Amino acid sequence: MAITKAGKQTIPANTKDIDAPATQRRCCSLRANNHFAPLAQEEEDMDLAPDLIANNTQPHITPSLQAHLAVASEHRRITTVQTHVPCPGAFPPHTAKPIDGFPITHLWHSAQLFEDMDPKVIATWDAEVPSPKLLACIFDLIADKASPDTIRNAITAMKNVIHGINCEVQQISTSNIKVAPLARAEDAHSAPATFLIYDIPETVHNILIHTKVWATPAITFELFPFTPTFPTFLFAIEGFMPTPPIRIHTIILSTWHMDKTYDDFIRIITRDPEFPADFPPHIQMEWFAKTFETMASSLEVCLLDYKKPGNIPDPIYNVFAEIPTTNPRMWHEIRSLLENLTYVDPLNGTGKRAPFRQCQLCHCVTHPRGLCLFPRIDEWLGPNGNSNANTMQKDNKCRGKRGN
Ligand SMILES: [Zn+2]
Repeated sequence: MAITKAGKQTIPANTKDIDAPATQRRCCSLRANNHFAPLAQEEEDMDLAPDLIANNTQPHITPSLQAHLAVASEHRRITTVQTHVPCPGAFPPHTAKPIDGFPITHLWHSAQLFEDMDPKVIATWDAEVPSPKLLACIFDLIADKASPDTIRNAITAMKNVIHGINCEVQQISTSNIKVAPLARAEDAHSAPATFLIYDIPETVHNILIHTKVWATPAITFELFPFTPTFPTFLFAIEGFMPTPPIRIHTIILSTWHMDKTYDDFIRIITRDPEFPADFPPHIQMEWFAKTFETMASSLEVCLLDYKKPGNIPDPIYNVFAEIPTTNPRMWHEIRSLLENLTYVDPLNGTGKRAPFRQCQLCHCVTHPRGLCLFPRIDEWLGPNGNSNANTMQKDNKCRGKRGN
């Protein structure tokens, strides 16, 4: 259908949103070897039953997950359910969850945790392994460089932490908690770094996901729900002079409200399954306006205080927003539209998409390791911010054996 300016004029000029201060948020993914394929068959620590995989010659992935994976593949450019609040003192020694939560670990897209993974393994994890189950990422682990021993030790350490929690909660030690290792796809760009935790009691699952980040002297890891969710991080912009984020927020919003951007947005969102195609035009116009405003009003901009050699400011602005769709293809297309725009500030230069910086410590895609917020948390027991990657707390490994 034709996209008219009338549609756009239904959008109230929300100066409040334009002028409101951008909320500063703490921002904090994974790269992952040939080492790992053989590990998938090892039994003691890599517990996914071999026959489960062997029986899946034809990967069967549920449609909802498949939708995320399919679009992620095309665009590979680059909870809390609380039934029991853990008492930090009663669990394995770990960094207590801060009052306002741990920093958010932003992913690049909804299926990033499955990136580079063997499709048969994904199918098995998805269809054969019953819930509750969780995905885990290990801090300070660059899977491409990790040895099989490192992976094995990491899995053992993770199981020990979860086993300790289970004993504390269930008052028994009969748990058969399992951790399945990563498994590299034949055409993987790099080794995946996602592990599957399963065969866990519901209560333990809830405690794990509630705390989310488990920083212990032996290992630090973060839990993610198995079902993909869309990230709010969209892209980063570089090229502006050092400017307060509120100014960049205004520039981005005005660029999004330009006629061409709006028309391109409508062209994409019209194909969304939620689009009221059978309704009168005025209803459709209202839906367009409301949908666009949902996205625009959620915009947040965070300054990444990046410096070039010589202490020269090189500001990066991370852009966050909720893209109003539940459809992976629409999500990627709208994100692609927004990140490829040119953002012009007459007084502060021109901003374009910057390559994202992935933290080698927490794997978040919004900052480099040196700007990671996790090591700055009080009583942080995880790895520090130094660029001694791949050590995976090996200093602590020797002194941190707990109930192995
Ligand atoms: Zn980080």
